[in-house]
Amino acid sequence: MTSTTPVNAGRATGTPGTIGGVAGAPPAARAAALLERVTGGADSAPAEMTAPFTGLPIATLPQATDADTRAAFAGARRAQPGWAAMPATERQQVLIRLHDLILRHQDEVLDLVQVEAGKSRLDAFDEVAATALVAAYYGKHSARLLAPRRAAGVIPVLTRAGEVRHPKGVVGVISPWNYPLALTAMDVLPALAAGNAVVQKPDNQTALSALWLHELAERAELPADAWQVVLGRGSRIGDAIVEESDYVCFTGSTPTGKHLAGQIARRLTGYSLELGGKNPMVVLPGADVAKAAAGAVAACFSSAGQLCVSVERIYVHESIREAFTQAFVRRTQALRLGATLDYSAGMGSLTSAEQLDTVSAHVADARANGATVLTGGRPRPDLGPLFYEPTILTGVTERARLFAEETFGPVVAVYGYTDVDEAVERANDTPFGLNASVWSGDQRHGWEVATRLKAGTVNVNEGFAATFGSVGVPMGGMKESGVGRRNAAEGLLKYTESQSIAVQRGFRLRPFRGMPPKLWAKGMTASMRALRRLPGR
Ligand code: NAD
Repeated sequence: MTSTTPVNAGRATGTPGTIGGVAGAPPAARAAALLERVTGGADSAPAEMTAPFTGLPIATLPQATDADTRAAFAGARRAQPGWAAMPATERQQVLIRLHDLILRHQDEVLDLVQVEAGKSRLDAFDEVAATALVAAYYGKHSARLLAPRRAAGVIPVLTRAGEVRHPKGVVGVISPWNYPLALTAMDVLPALAAGNAVVQKPDNQTALSALWLHELAERAELPADAWQVVLGRGSRIGDAIVEESDYVCFTGSTPTGKHLAGQIARRLTGYSLELGGKNPMVVLPGADVAKAAAGAVAACFSSAGQLCVSVERIYVHESIREAFTQAFVRRTQALRLGATLDYSAGMGSLTSAEQLDTVSAHVADARANGATVLTGGRPRPDLGPLFYEPTILTGVTERARLFAEETFGPVVAVYGYTDVDEAVERANDTPFGLNASVWSGDQRHGWEVATRLKAGTVNVNEGFAATFGSVGVPMGGMKESGVGRRNAAEGLLKYTESQSIAVQRGFRLRPFRGMPPKLWAKGMTASMRALRRLPGR
């Protein structure tokens, strides 16, 4: 097989006066208005960001200093008690209103996400959908999940025990550039629902998308200052965030996550880390080859592979390897690349020059170490400065960097296997454990293989979207892919301190006056034997 060219669905043309000079994007004045929502900006070196589609300026971003960041925390700390005092059911209503506003006003944020991250409109819509789903989930369930809980006390009837949840205080949220809207929502909204205030640091590249959600939250009647956005380089304001937060929620790369965990540990505050992956897909014998090939395209090339849960390794049973590979290559070659703000393209651009360098270097290195390029394998400057073709490799050897390292781009390696145990072992042979995908003609067998994969989420007959959209189950990484989970009850309760209260009535938990301790111990022993048989304890 030789490399062919995926169809070009359009190149972004420079349009004066729009954000990033992208045709059809909101006017530059809109970026300026959103940036007014930022807290602080006294750093003398503002950040100049450019649009991946055009290479033209998005905006000049004010950058916070250490003092600005601490002031944002002080503002959030002042706002937090009033917000926490509001009944949880009223806080829920803010999220429900936000959900409705997101769906109604999605067109503008689809433009912003595309312009800032360079992704296709369908990939940007995934962010809108995830944001709405998570707002609806916590809008419906957070009050119930946070409600005080009764539990059996040590002495039936006489000990009344229960658990109460308190917000942590002010949560620091640090977000990456690849899913700027969805990851803001998934990490910030539950922290707010739990009664915390939030100081968020989005990535400079994609700050406008986060600020758009911030503006909408205000329209949904979130009190001013309960959510503050600071912009800045991690190296400049990271220390202030760690030192001021009552809990840190970080999403980004494993090296940064490890660095922050070391800092946070010295303060003994809580944290969650959502980190990188090298996600495997296992195609079992008997899987529907056409469906698995179509699923692999979405699993590997959504957001040009700049997705923490995207698939970078595929293990296919030898009995169907040839048929699968041919179908996968054919469907990948049919993917339309483009830089337009409409639904005509299947894949967009990489987001930064660093990403383009990494992807190019990984593919060149794999080739030098024996890999064959089945399709793709080259940049596409004719479409935009940061485009790279969706790339399928075979014959990747252990010497290649991308054999084990996360590429975070539109590059996947296909391997054959003969035995399912071997496929499971190879899929698990990685320091990461974020997401995995299993394709099977038999759903029960697929589920059984899924339980053997060491990944925080596993999708059967899907690449990542089934777990990503199922916000009622937790999402997060095993091993070096993270600590803690987002979504579901866990993604809310991590932002709370649990407090246990027990009220003792009429019976001290000590020997009665004058009672020999030995007799007390004997009586208690008999009671415990009896209690163990009591239902509900
Ligand atoms: P990154 O670690 O470079 O940056 C993430 C964020 O941390 C950015 O906002 C950055 O400015 C900030 N940061 C960097 N150094 C800091 C410091 N010392 N103190 C405080 N903040 C600091 O990661 P990235 O390149 O932006 O994102 C890509 C990585 O994120 C990939 O590895 C990807 O797999 C991972 N990711 C994981 C998930 C998940 O849910 N597990 C989701 C998205 C991305």
